[in-house]
Amino acid sequence: MHVVVTGGAGFIGSHLASYHLARGDSVTVVDDLSTGTLKNILPMLQNPAFQFHKADILVWEGLKHAVSRADRVYHMAAIVGVKKVLEDPRAVMAINIAGTERIFRAVADIRPDVQVTIASSSEVYGFNTNSSFSESDDIILRSGGRLRWCYAVTKLADEFLAYSFMYKSGIHVVIARLFNTIGPRQTGKYGMVVPNFIHQAVNNLPMTVYGDGTQTRSFCDVRDTVVALDLLASTPSANGEIVNVGNDAELSILGLAKLIAQRAGSTSCQKFMSYVEAYGMEIDEISHRRPVLSKLHSLTGFKPKWDLRKTLDDLIALERGSERQ
Ligand code: UDP
Repeated sequence: MHVVVTGGAGFIGSHLASYHLARGDSVTVVDDLSTGTLKNILPMLQNPAFQFHKADILVWEGLKHAVSRADRVYHMAAIVGVKKVLEDPRAVMAINIAGTERIFRAVADIRPDVQVTIASSSEVYGFNTNSSFSESDDIILRSGGRLRWCYAVTKLADEFLAYSFMYKSGIHVVIARLFNTIGPRQTGKYGMVVPNFIHQAVNNLPMTVYGDGTQTRSFCDVRDTVVALDLLASTPSANGEIVNVGNDAELSILGLAKLIAQRAGSTSCQKFMSYVEAYGMEIDEISHRRPVLSKLHSLTGFKPKWDLRKTLDDLIALERGSERQ
């Protein structure tokens, strides 16, 4: 099988690429390296079944050719991370929507039979005070131009673009609503909590807990995420469906800080910070973000294999290794 991964030098995209290479598939990655890195795909560059194109998906001339050869496309290229989104919301609006439209247009024009999976986000559930989220739940967005929500709006626009192209051009799309994903190659540069806490704990630095730390999250190891995405893409009945992808084990952010400090044998203490200190502006915090996974399970039989403690131990060991280099 030939697989195209947009954003394939990024965190989740590079894991999709290595997963498919390991299964004997050939993989084409396109990435502009704006947030993805060559380091993420370095070991793959030697593999004859792997091709890398450094290009912006908005203008990449090779897109139609790549789609014409593909059996499957994963569209992962996007600007993500609350800090990164607040840094340049204009770029988020432009790239996250236009990029997806360009992919769908190429597929509709050249190969409407190709299987496409797009990365949506749990962020689309918006400012919803539910304790967990099912795909059929209503979406609640804040009015008043609070910029945090521009990312959710782009991902929602991508979902509706998918439905429009399915309806008018008959293309095959699975919409994966990804919940908090963690694992090797995730950078702390854009404010994600686990890489931040791991770095702080390993270096015995204060651990920056935003707000009061009672907000909860559910973290899925990326090595589980890619299995779920592959299963969804291979399941014909998942076509045209929105599906939550994640792990439903939940803990508070303060609990996470304590757990990471304990697993790392760290002397770090917690440093509570307001959202204004953390993000430079007031943001709407989401108090709980836990996926209901019954749809994913009934479509594919998928259950996550990575326990949070195992992932954290792995990340702590990797951080120690990179500090020594
Ligand atoms: N967070 C934190 N300290 C950090 C980074 C993030 O307390 O150094 C909090 C953040 O406010 C949020 C949670 O951790 O409540 C998860 O943040 P992340 O940006 O990783 O994901 P998201 O908010 O998109 O779920």
